[in-house]
Amino acid sequence: MEKISLIVPCYNEEEVLPLFYQEVTRVADLMEEYEFEFLFVDDGSRDGTMKVVKDLAGQDKRVKYVSFSRNFGKEAAMYAGFTHASGDYVAVMDADLQDPPALLPEMMAVIKNEGYDSVATRRVTRKGEPPIRSFFARCFYKLMRRISKTEMVDGARDYRLMTRQFVNSLLELGEYNRFSKGLYGWVGYKTKWLEYENVERAAGETKWSFWKLLLYSIEGIVAFSAAPLAIAAVSGIICCVLAFLFIVFIVVRTLMFGDPVAGWPSLVCIILLIGGLQLLSIGILGEYLAKTYLEVKNRPIFICKESNIRENDR
Ligand code: UDP
Ligand code: MG
Repeated sequence: MEKISLIVPCYNEEEVLPLFYQEVTRVADLMEEYEFEFLFVDDGSRDGTMKVVKDLAGQDKRVKYVSFSRNFGKEAAMYAGFTHASGDYVAVMDADLQDPPALLPEMMAVIKNEGYDSVATRRVTRKGEPPIRSFFARCFYKLMRRISKTEMVDGARDYRLMTRQFVNSLLELGEYNRFSKGLYGWVGYKTKWLEYENVERAAGETKWSFWKLLLYSIEGIVAFSAAPLAIAAVSGIICCVLAFLFIVFIVVRTLMFGDPVAGWPSLVCIILLIGGLQLLSIGILGEYLAKTYLEVKNRPIFICKESNIRENDR
């Protein structure tokens, strides 16, 4: 019998986990021709998440867990899931039921019958999300489409079903600064997109503040595009050309009209502008350097504190 592993990153999800388990087992029971593995990755939760997961593991043999020593972030949780999953097919699913488990049979059918290597989901509406967040998310995807060769789809969720081959390819990308939406596109293969309306969280609260999302988007840009470096260089060239034209203008004007002392406000403006551009360029450079620094240190992506998966089970 073929096996489907469901990876569920959980960070402070005690409220929603029982609901999630109920729904996901309902769907699993409908798909009797497959064996299931529910792999909960506890991302250093501070509430009772681990207790709920352990209780579930006690009742149901299909429940596996990996618990981190601290909060490493959702990307690390997904990576840990990929390394521990043993299924022939692997899906990533949020614990808050925003990724409807009921879509699974349809996703599975696409892989089985239509020959795709992965089925991804995107939400076509952003109902229930703060408008300012939707606005910036749209800007981010527009920007990424321009500056990166890797395909990134607006509204793409992390909810996706993949074949073992696809997951093995993802595992080969062992980078520390992970931006999955880009990594999925980077590995290639054939992906079908299913669309659905945004569903609101079943319980609990979102773990993503605006600030966290902003930093995450910078991670995405730095990981998948070198365009900001080019922009810094080009703006430097533009400044040089402008400065050169300005010098010619000043020399000619002085030769024709003499040199009355004037124009220090414009000088201050120019100094500020150039200074600003220099700092910005150094900042952009620094951002890439910092990511390289973290990558070179080669720290583990996550640290597992406890788990009910034995090494030789995998
Ligand atoms: N999550 C995680 N680590 C974190 C933040 C979130 O594992 O540091 C998990 C969280 O438990 C949930 C999923 O990632 O299962 C999506 O998080 P959330 O629902 O808060 O994000 P949103 O749906 O609002 O984008
Ligand atoms: Mg959510």
